[in-house]
Amino acid sequence: MSFENLKLHPSILQAIADSGYTTPTPIQAEAIPEVLAGRDIMASAQTGTGKTAAFMLPAIHRLSTPSAVKSKGPRVLVLTPTRELATQVNDAARKYGKHLRLNTVSILGGMPYPLQNKLLSGYVDILVATPGRLIDHIDRGRIDFSRLEMLILDEADRMLDMGFIEDVEKIANATPASRQTLLFSATLDGNIGKLATRLLKDPKRIQVAAQQDRHENIEQRLHFVDDMAHKSRLLQHMLTDVDLTQAIVFTATKRDADMLAEDLFAQGHSAAALHGDMNQGARNRTLTKLRRGGLRVLVATDVAARGIDVAGISHVINFDLPKFAEDYVHRIGRTGRAGASGIAVSFASYRDMQLLQRIERFTGQSIAPHTIAGLEPKRVPRPSSPRSGQDRKFSGKPGGSRGASGQPRREGGFARNGEKRPNSGGFAHHSGRRHG
Ligand code: AMP
Repeated sequence: MSFENLKLHPSILQAIADSGYTTPTPIQAEAIPEVLAGRDIMASAQTGTGKTAAFMLPAIHRLSTPSAVKSKGPRVLVLTPTRELATQVNDAARKYGKHLRLNTVSILGGMPYPLQNKLLSGYVDILVATPGRLIDHIDRGRIDFSRLEMLILDEADRMLDMGFIEDVEKIANATPASRQTLLFSATLDGNIGKLATRLLKDPKRIQVAAQQDRHENIEQRLHFVDDMAHKSRLLQHMLTDVDLTQAIVFTATKRDADMLAEDLFAQGHSAAALHGDMNQGARNRTLTKLRRGGLRVLVATDVAARGIDVAGISHVINFDLPKFAEDYVHRIGRTGRAGASGIAVSFASYRDMQLLQRIERFTGQSIAPHTIAGLEPKRVPRPSSPRSGQDRKFSGKPGGSRGASGQPRREGGFARNGEKRPNSGGFAHHSGRRHG
């Protein structure tokens, strides 16, 4: 499934490409066709699954055709429980709609009324609002919903928890009955189910398979690195682990894959490269060797390694972090196949912090920092906080292995092999290159 298959407006596809997304997330793949077909949906999806784009992309697609109604009021209304989430939704609307001329307005508590009145008196395509403040404006007759086509309730469960249920119903009742309604919530049962019965018409229920996405059989570890030489020492150390049956080591470029594989081979490891510049015959031979256990370390690039299904892969090592968050998920999925458990290690320098945060946001999981005795980083960047503030639902879950102090956890695991400390020479001719 690609975004092109979803038949979105070319300007939206352009904005998606600009954002660096290549593949729809599961919630996007399921929800977007239904929304484009005009159906109401109730979807269970948490932050980090790509839910914002799941509603915003088809909503913007709808706005690419002019309204049949002559007025200035909003055509799409998104209700969110908090200002933070509203701001995020607003940013997403601007990002995905940047090649179309859309007016996006947010109406949040704590902002001055005169400014909001002014914004509401102009043309509005997308209105993002928290319920309380919006009710004030509705009560004062300042909002014209005559051309409203779509109502989106984001994190509906939290709006209920925060006591907004009456406001939400009142707002919904002020909009045309012909509207399309989309409801997103962590759970779809109980009071959310009742609310949905009142506000949605024959909704399609969508639930994304959370557990599989979470790769719960894969232990994800983060190692902060100072420089290329440090990365090389860590890698050498990891390759001496007797529990490492087979590993795929990912590099950023084909050239790096070749050089690293050569270095490892020269050091006595059973290692080879796999990348798109190799002809098909050579690629097949390498993969067969890997499958038969004749190769312990495969040094690969993203495209070449996609979809490799070899049960013996105990470790995935991100020597360089992937440029796109979704590639991280593809990479770590090469281990822990067929019900086995796996270990996914990522090296990150302080320059990679933004990328790391994007990955953590995308997966909805924190990657716990580890250190190896004698190979600790000289400086530890501040741990990222992918769910800071607005998403309390996740707190204490996958990131739990980070120490209470937020400091990296010391990895004792490799030391039990009792092997000698790796020399610090490493992959000499790599050291001059730019990191990542
Ligand atoms: P959300 O669940 O809406 O909070 O989105 C989580 C993060 O995933 C955001 O940073 C998005 O920019 C990003 N994202 C959404 N859809 C995709 C996609 N198809 N590919 C890559 N990243 C995405």
